Amino acid sequence: MIGVRLMRLVLMGPPGAGKGTQGARLAQRYGIPRYSTGDILRAARREGTELGRAAQGYMDAGELVPDAVILGMMRGTLSSEEAAAGFLLDGFPRTVAQAEGLADVLDDLGLELDAVVDLDVPDEEIVRRLSARRVCTDCGRVAPSDTVEGASCPDCGGDLRQRSDDDPRTVRRRLEVYRDETAPVLDWYERADTRVVRVRGTGLVQDVHERLVEAIGA
Ligand code: ADP
Ligand code: ZN
Repeated sequence: MIGVRLMRLVLMGPPGAGKGTQGARLAQRYGIPRYSTGDILRAARREGTELGRAAQGYMDAGELVPDAVILGMMRGTLSSEEAAAGFLLDGFPRTVAQAEGLADVLDDLGLELDAVVDLDVPDEEIVRRLSARRVCTDCGRVAPSDTVEGASCPDCGGDLRQRSDDDPRTVRRRLEVYRDETAPVLDWYERADTRVVRVRGTGLVQDVHERLVEAIGA
């Protein structure tokens, strides 16, 4: 297609900021695949693969899966033919070491990021959102906050349940990890002269989407 610009985006923000919801919409809007490390890891757990078994303990404790595991997993994905048409990364990179690893992979491929997008939501709002959220155990769809445990997914018929790491204690730990390990990634990108755009992630889903598109441009 003529005139369509390939987009290479990183979507960042604390757990519960709405990266999954907004990432899916952005990917659709720009016609690019969305690669969510959280979704990839959860699928690996469901399938009981070696990757899934390695990740399980970290995820349930709200800790990060080791950088080497994540980088090994993403290197192949980013080198794929599909990713050559642009991509949106959701939940990766989450540490400065991962950002450095991603920069190496992109260098090797001769590619650059167009923007790193930070979806900003205050902590109180995050705790409120995550304690109420129900997620499809099969396709990952996020259900409205009044959904009862065990209801069926409107997309695939799977079970809508609370995620095993959405209990208040694990959420607090995930927020700490975000502050200590992931927030510094934004400063790292700013120092590396990558375009960082910050967007407020509160309010209606559609309004946040429009704010994002306006901030990203094109
Ligand atoms: P959230 O952003 O809501 O915490 P995700 O679905 O992105 O949820 O991630 C869930 C868990 O998966 C994380 O708490 C972590 O254990 C693991 N994980 C996902 N992405 C990464 C990553 N890039 N590096 C390390 N661990 C990750
Ligand atoms: Zn589903």
